[in-house]
Amino acid sequence: MGINILYIEDNPDNMMLVKRALESRGYKLLQAMTGVLGVSTAEAEEIDLILLDINLPDIDGYEVARRIRSSSAKKSLSYVPIIAVTANALKGDAEKALSAGCDVYMSKPINIRELWARVEAFVPSPMGPKQ
Ligand code: MN
Repeated sequence: MGINILYIEDNPDNMMLVKRALESRGYKLLQAMTGVLGVSTAEAEEIDLILLDINLPDIDGYEVARRIRSSSAKKSLSYVPIIAVTANALKGDAEKALSAGCDVYMSKPINIRELWARVEAFVPSPMGPKQ
């Protein structure tokens, strides 16, 4: 029934950019604009991969990752792939994201080709390999 990617991000420009980029590769994007909404969406929906912004208006991305990994509502969230999207890779965001339970990280500004490659490393595009 398609591949569902959840993007937890409060910036509407990044949200639109990623939505267009992923839908062009056949993925379905679910959106959450706060950390708490992101956790509840991950628990409520069938999610194949999570993209996670670190700077969110309520709880930060590290806390989101910890809550997702330790969810008692949905045990499969302990291994759903999480890609952190960090604004301050040089300030240790990346290492903190990994220790909070994220699998990999990528830096802002978002590079579309890197995004496709990172996502496809976990969940192949329904449209086949990128030409
Ligand atoms: Mn943000």
